Formats: sequence, C-alpha cells, structure tokens
Amino acid sequence: MTLPTIQLTCTPHRPNVKSVIITPLQLEREPLLFDEAIPAGALEYAPDVTQVGPLPVTGRADLLLEHRGHREQVADIRLRAAYHGDFEVLCARCVEPVQTPLTGSFDLIFRPQEADADPGERAITPDETEIGYYEESGLSLEDVVREQVLLSLPSRTLCKEDCKGLCPRCGQNLNLESCNCNPTADPRWNALAGLAGTVKSS
Ligand SMILES: [Zn+2]
Ligand SMILES: [Zn+2]
Repeated sequence: MTLPTIQLTCTPHRPNVKSVIITPLQLEREPLLFDEAIPAGALEYAPDVTQVGPLPVTGRADLLLEHRGHREQVADIRLRAAYHGDFEVLCARCVEPVQTPLTGSFDLIFRPQEADADPGERAITPDETEIGYYEESGLSLEDVVREQVLLSLPSRTLCKEDCKGLCPRCGQNLNLESCNCNPTADPRWNALAGLAGTVKSS
C-alpha cells in the first residue's frame, strides 16, 4: 500500500517558508508520510546555532483517537520522524563556529491544546512518555523539528576540550595568539575560568 505524501502549504505568518501543518482532519482516512528538506535559514534556532545546508526530515503522522467517557473524543497526533543535517554552533568560550553534524529521531504524541484544560480529566495512555500540545490551526512539523534539534544539542559546545577562550580584557582569541594583557598576573582569573568550565551554563 502506498500512502500519500503531505503537501507543503504556506503559513501566513512566515510567507517565505514552506511549512508542513498537520491537522487531525488530514489524518482521518490514512496516515501522512512526509519526506521534506527544511532549507537553511528557514528556521531560527538560537543566537549561537545555525543550520548549514538543508535538513532532510522523513517520517509519518498518525491520528490517535482517545476516548474519554461516553461522548468525548480527543484527536491526538502521533508524529514520528528522523532528521539529519549540519549545524554550526558557537564555541562557548571563544565564540568560533564549531561544525556539529546532527542525526536524530523522535516519536511524540501531540494533544489538542484545549483537551487538558481540566487536569482532573487528563487521560493517561499506557505508553505515555512524552505529550506535547498543538494549537487549533494544527501541528507545525518545523516547530517540532526545531525544538528537537535544540534538545539534542549539548548544553555547551566547545571547539576543543582545552579551548583557551577569549582574553577577558582585550578579546583576543587566545587559541590563536596570546596577548599582552598578562592574564597570569591575577590568579583569580584562572580560578574563575576553571570554575566556569565545570558549571553548566543554564
Ligand atoms: Zn573555543
Ligand atoms: Zn588580552
């Protein structure tokens, strides 16, 4: 059996970005398969994270109907996908771009935002691991991928374990060249630098 491939539509708020919006209505008859490439620049990840080249995303979306009581039905969307692509992440110490190839996959369930308004009614599915929510307009594949990419990146990226960082006084990249600020003059700088290396930036 072959399944239809999802069509790209333009979202009003991002007119230049083709976006895959998934709604329960689309999934009523059959799942949707997608095989897309998110172009570089289409998504903004974080100030220190840039997508380099296209990000291929393949997967499928299924409708899961949850029955609550006799009358109520909740239309959940199960989204499974895999992606791989190249990113540039700035080194946390010297701010030089670090090539960061990423490969990831996810299997997530999204529930209509209004469905869990009353926490007492929250139904638990047997294999409930991660539940997200989608708005009335539908679930944006790009939004999910963006979030998953950010989650999969390390909390702190270094160009190398012993990156010397920037001189706190003149800004010189100390991996390339030492400066004349005499950083050893004040040993507290070294103590602070060592501390910064062990404390996870939040
Ligand atoms: Zn560095
Ligand atoms: Zn300096």
